[in-house]
Amino acid sequence: MVQLVRSGLEGLRERCAGRVVSPQDADYEVMRKIWNGAIDRRPSVIVRCGGPEDVEAAVSFARQEGLEISVRGGGHGFGGAAVTDGGVMLDLSALRLIDVDAASRWASCGAGATWADLDAATQAYGLATPGGTISHTGVGGLTLGGGFGWLTRDHGLTADNLESADVVLADGRQVHASVREHPDLFWALRGGGGNFGVVTSFAYRLHPVPPDVRVAVLFWEAERGPAAVEVVDRIVTSLPEHVSALIGFGMSAPPAPFVPEEHRLRPGHTLILAGFGEPEQHVAVVQRVADALPPLFAFAESMPYPQLQSLLDESAPWGVPAYEKALDLPALGPEAIATLCEHAARKGSPMSFVPTFRLDGAFSAVPDDATAFGGSREPHYTLSITALASSADALEEEKEWVRDTWSAMLPHAGGTGTYVNFIADQDEDRVRASYGEEKYARLAAIKAAYDPDNVFHLNANIKPATGQAGM
Ligand code: FAD
Repeated sequence: MVQLVRSGLEGLRERCAGRVVSPQDADYEVMRKIWNGAIDRRPSVIVRCGGPEDVEAAVSFARQEGLEISVRGGGHGFGGAAVTDGGVMLDLSALRLIDVDAASRWASCGAGATWADLDAATQAYGLATPGGTISHTGVGGLTLGGGFGWLTRDHGLTADNLESADVVLADGRQVHASVREHPDLFWALRGGGGNFGVVTSFAYRLHPVPPDVRVAVLFWEAERGPAAVEVVDRIVTSLPEHVSALIGFGMSAPPAPFVPEEHRLRPGHTLILAGFGEPEQHVAVVQRVADALPPLFAFAESMPYPQLQSLLDESAPWGVPAYEKALDLPALGPEAIATLCEHAARKGSPMSFVPTFRLDGAFSAVPDDATAFGGSREPHYTLSITALASSADALEEEKEWVRDTWSAMLPHAGGTGTYVNFIADQDEDRVRASYGEEKYARLAAIKAAYDPDNVFHLNANIKPATGQAGM
């Protein structure tokens, strides 16, 4: 096998415009690393693809050599599916070309771009598409799993704003997927993850974003946890249009300049409110929260959208050892609040917390069968119970906290299904539960048509339906 790989490797190098890197190369160690510092896998070959032709060459090389394929966009997948042990890692991070057509409110974006790249390019025209809340996350994995963030209440998921994608299929063909071309594939790409091929470029619909977004951060100490969470729930479930919330349950006060020194790293709960409408409207919402339960400290400022998009970057630094488990909650009743507060207080690492997204508004206005998104379109919370530790050893203990918290919250959830991008462990049952029987069956049939041999299986994997191959 090693001999075969070596001889084939020269041929691959000749075919590729981008770099083909093996363990002997100096920068191999850097290139195999991803965001989650606990992932330590060693691909036989890393292909930093320079374009769709390189992707096609790498896929066909891997298939000829019988090597597993992994696809790396921004490298943010919690479980590290972007890195294969022993196989071929397709690194898309060089595909960062972005083209904005401001008049048509449209942007095409290379699949290796990060949200920082795309937001900077679109914001030059006062436009944006809904993206994630950490700017060094890749557009690739986030879009294909669904993608939500600050603009989701107003404009839906990232996938809801996808207009088309250029894809290299398992058999090496390059296709353009949209509502008109390969509509079944296009439907599956909007939530079905990396199962159907390697996307080399996305095209997104854009929306105007005001030059300044009003942002307020409110913090309550853990001792007032249940009262704080009850208020946060009441406010967040009745927000007016154009105000968006992100909750950090169990989030310790950051050691940031806006936090009074005596409160830095104090355990508690954080509510962040971002206002895209009239400033007075945002001020009124913040005032409602403060009147209901005065925070220990608060901070309010106006900032350009890209600054909001990177506000939380330091809470999830590149290279941190991480683990997570997620679940969806239809509502936060008193028992769920008590359980959440009790478990949040038991975390071992000051960095760990439970980022919680409220999904409603424009997100819920999209019919469930319009896209392959896994999870309910009904208004709900998605809780990502996230361990972030100072070392891989410390992470092992913190994983127990994640699992215990998840198990304790499960009786309050609508089942084990959740956002597929938050399923770190390979877990077929949870993937099925996330999509539901009907959607999973539709995805499995499309998988059978586009990737019958399950070449792309390092992902929230959908098994090809049997007896349905062929396009
Ligand atoms: P990668 O690890 O590079 O890719 C993950 C998987 O996606 C790959 O294994 C592959 O299967 C597939 N993939 C990626 N690119 C392609 C491609 N071009 N073609 C085919 N398959 C591809 N999600 C949200 O929706 N909102 C958030 O606010 C948010 N915040 C996050 C914050 C942190 C700190 C982390 C770690 C994750 C967050 N996520 C969020 C989850 C995020 O959506 C997923 O981790 C996503 O997979 C990241 O995409 P990536 O390209 O960076 O990751």
